[in-house]
Amino acid sequence: MSRIFSGIQPSGELHIGNYLGAVKNWVQLQDRYECVFCIVDYHAITGHYEPSDLRQRTFDMAVSLLAAGLDPDKCTLFVQSMVPEHTELAWILNTVTPLGELERQTQYKDKASRQESVLAGLLNYPVLQAADILLYRADLVPVGEDQVQHLELTREVARRWNAKFGVSYFPEPKPLLTPARRILGLDGQAKMSKSLGNTVGLLEEPEAIWEKLRPAVTDPARVRRTDPGTPEVCNIYHLHKGFSDQATVDHVAAQCRSAGWGCIDCKKVLLESMTRELGPIRERARDLEAHPARIAEILAQGAERCRTMARETMAAVKTTMGLV
Ligand code: SF4
Repeated sequence: MSRIFSGIQPSGELHIGNYLGAVKNWVQLQDRYECVFCIVDYHAITGHYEPSDLRQRTFDMAVSLLAAGLDPDKCTLFVQSMVPEHTELAWILNTVTPLGELERQTQYKDKASRQESVLAGLLNYPVLQAADILLYRADLVPVGEDQVQHLELTREVARRWNAKFGVSYFPEPKPLLTPARRILGLDGQAKMSKSLGNTVGLLEEPEAIWEKLRPAVTDPARVRRTDPGTPEVCNIYHLHKGFSDQATVDHVAAQCRSAGWGCIDCKKVLLESMTRELGPIRERARDLEAHPARIAEILAQGAERCRTMARETMAAVKTTMGLV
């Protein structure tokens, strides 16, 4: 069975953007592949953060992932810092990664331009990402089309290390394209992101979700109720595609194009679909939150499984490189 690796930032409770864009897909993948899912707290410390917040956000992310359907009997879920081999391999991979490659990374350039004094951790972030994947010798990494480029550096690092030591130990991980789900923020301006305050939390109550959906941006061409719309340009339509069944999605498109209903009608139907899917997730989350020891146990077991794989990789890497 092919092995998949994917990581997610410990940003606290999931929002519906990262649920539809990644995690809903992970839940399906765990039935078809050997999946290793990681909460990447070492990545989260490359910017400003509060230590006590980070611990809570890591816990909340674990709750969200398990409530959303990750099953510890089908996949491995763990926290990156519980497996120190990630940073050990990252150091080794730094020694085969050209500085220029890292300086060219778009994400680095964007973030560095916003930091007063740029930290080395920010520059080396993609090397740690490469280590995350190569430590488990993963065959596949689920990515959206816009992230295929990020995986290329990992493939390059694997090639360089293999070439330097004349082996083919690290497989070059391939992208496993995630079905495209371009979920914008409710302001319609940008990607859904907590820092932009344009998200809906996965565990929010229906009343709170409605307070956000009601004023959410739709097709700007629908100024009056009688104006026909274009569903493809509307974020609410894309959310329907994530949460509603196909018959409802078709109905939404027809009603929008013919101005058969108003945007508020459309949003009410979306709220029903979201409540149907998110209600059971919310209940599971409440139950998990009431049993923090169970979460700790799941993460510890996941880390132990990962350490066994990681130790094996590091032993082979060190032997190959002449390290003791
Ligand atoms: S009817 Fe629905 S899909 Fe069409 S613009 Fe309004 S909210 Fe968007």
